[in-house]
Amino acid sequence: MKHCRLCQSLLRSPVIVAESVRDSKNQKVIQCQTCGHVQLLRENPKVVSTSSLSQAAERGGWDLNHFWDVEKHDTYRRISLIKRIIPPPAKVLDIGTGFGFFVGLLTEHGYSCASTETNKTKLAYVPKSVTIIPPDFGNADKPLDFEIVTMFHMLEHLEEPVAFLDLLRESVKSGCRIVIEVPNRDDLLLRESRPYFEFYWQKSHLSYFNRESLADLICRGGLRSSEIFSIQRYGLLNLMSWIIKWEAPN
Ligand SMILES: [Zn+2]
Repeated sequence: MKHCRLCQSLLRSPVIVAESVRDSKNQKVIQCQTCGHVQLLRENPKVVSTSSLSQAAERGGWDLNHFWDVEKHDTYRRISLIKRIIPPPAKVLDIGTGFGFFVGLLTEHGYSCASTETNKTKLAYVPKSVTIIPPDFGNADKPLDFEIVTMFHMLEHLEEPVAFLDLLRESVKSGCRIVIEVPNRDDLLLRESRPYFEFYWQKSHLSYFNRESLADLICRGGLRSSEIFSIQRYGLLNLMSWIIKWEAPN
């Protein structure tokens, strides 16, 4: 019997949200009847999945230009957000930093940056100006000295997101701001486009948050939520393509 990743109650007869995910016929998406959290039902909790994009890149080698093209719009938006929260100079820790596009550019804007990343291959591409710290924060015996911690599209990959936020809260200094970005399960297209619904669920995403479950997670992790807001990451062309052509734009 499995436990809910959010409320930890036993998933005795969860609601089936999707019978399979886009990259696995054998994995179901379910909803906890106790707290309503939508999540992947996994057979082996020890397996850590990487995104399908990362898997493709590892098979074919890394094309950083391609990844930059994919990530630059989000990277510029996130840097604008950080500058509105706290201007430079400030110390920023980015958890799940990937290739380090965000921290590299943030350093150029006058911030002092550190990163964690479990993928050692990606870690090699992180700019040398960025400090690398262990994903468990090195069991820090004194509070980590950061004004902001960022986690962009990272929490949905975790087997135990509440325990992770708990560890983070214990590791950072008082007053540290935490910026979390996750996909939004209350996506209009999930209702309007069946192909998008089938595309949306993926085996590397263990949790599917909406405003309510993200607030619930933050609360259970012992953090104080100040603001939750939505970002439209894709444009009108993408929306219309899914609704009219029933596929992603080329
Ligand atoms: Zn639950």
